[in-house]
Amino acid sequence: MERVRIVSLKGIHKRQAARICVGQKEAARAWTVCRDAHLAARQERGPWPNRDALQKATKGRFALHSQSVQMVTHAFLANVDTAQQLRSQGRTEIRYPYQDKTFYPLMWPAQAMHLEEKRIVLPMGRRRPSLVLPRPKWLTGKSACKVVWNGVHNELHISVEEENTEPAASLGPTQKHATVDLGQIHQAAVVTNDGEALVVSGRGIRFLKRLHSQQLGEIASKRSRCQKGSRRWRKLGKTRAKLTLRSEHRVRDLRHKGTRLVVDFCKDHGVESIFVGNPDGVRRKDAGRRHNQRMSQWEYGKDISYLEQKSEKDRIVCFTGDERGTSSRCPVCGHRHKPKGRNWRCPACGFQGHRDVVGGVNMHPLAFGQVVPFPNRITYLRPGNLRRSSSLDTGLPVGKGGSCLAESRNQAPQRTVPLRVPSGNRPQTASIG
Ligand SMILES: [Zn+2]
Repeated sequence: MERVRIVSLKGIHKRQAARICVGQKEAARAWTVCRDAHLAARQERGPWPNRDALQKATKGRFALHSQSVQMVTHAFLANVDTAQQLRSQGRTEIRYPYQDKTFYPLMWPAQAMHLEEKRIVLPMGRRRPSLVLPRPKWLTGKSACKVVWNGVHNELHISVEEENTEPAASLGPTQKHATVDLGQIHQAAVVTNDGEALVVSGRGIRFLKRLHSQQLGEIASKRSRCQKGSRRWRKLGKTRAKLTLRSEHRVRDLRHKGTRLVVDFCKDHGVESIFVGNPDGVRRKDAGRRHNQRMSQWEYGKDISYLEQKSEKDRIVCFTGDERGTSSRCPVCGHRHKPKGRNWRCPACGFQGHRDVVGGVNMHPLAFGQVVPFPNRITYLRPGNLRRSSSLDTGLPVGKGGSCLAESRNQAPQRTVPLRVPSGNRPQTASIG
């Protein structure tokens, strides 16, 4: 199994940072050359450039290591392939690569990397100084890597081959299985076929996303009053990047913790295979401005892939499929109606139960061909503590009206919950809307 480990390159030497910056611009130029070749071929209705053609077109033209340039062409072709596949599935709004890029990640295949005792040496091409980065202790052999700008600083992404403990049991008939209903209010609702259920809260993630949207809105309105390119305008831009990065990290952390809870629950209950409902149909519906924002912020694809990775590691079979209609059917009498609120109430037979668990119960016949009773025990868990970091409060430059965050807190509805109280400190608070 291949995994990507991320090393922060914060605080590397200025000279190295400058080399990275120049290299990323060169890589972007290489990308643009590929894009132009592809675009020209499409307009002339000629054959699309393949790997060889693109490598020929980019060979020796850029101030990069030859294999870094090749990696750019491979990445470009992979993007074209993905776009082609999606378009053939009817998603015609997907465009082939069209943008002019100013920066593009620097990439090296495993064989291009040189490892020294305490350093990684990444060649930048003949007669150009190499990139020298500190070597992490866990890095044992040469691996493919990538230098990526995350909006605030550079990161080194190293793909590490992790030896897999035996493959998961084959897809034969299994005794114990579980279904996972993904959601926003509840990140995941798990139902096993022997009457156990787990609900993992997604409120934390939703709160972080909403907070971030608010912050972005405030920065945008402050920036609209600045002169473009002014010092304050740039400062606000930097702050926006910082807040975005922090929000992404916090959400990613909660996502991993939440999916870990799901897989641990399945492991503890001896589950052999998991079915994850794919909410693609729900997502594409137009449901008004606010709801659409919420939907577009819902990264269920990440949940699915995290679940797949984690269950693979724990040797549980994991597969996905359409979940359409599972949340609107009564698990007892089969009556269909659209639920309102978090509780599913059947107008026909009077059944009542947790809405997301109902979805999970209804997935069992679809995925495993087995009707299961509504679970009599539901465990509720939260993926992690939502601490408000003190640096978040000072994350924004203080303007006339105090910091953005202070303003947003005043506007937020007055529902304040005390979170973790560190000994000796004042209680930290966070507003949840
Ligand atoms: Zn009913």
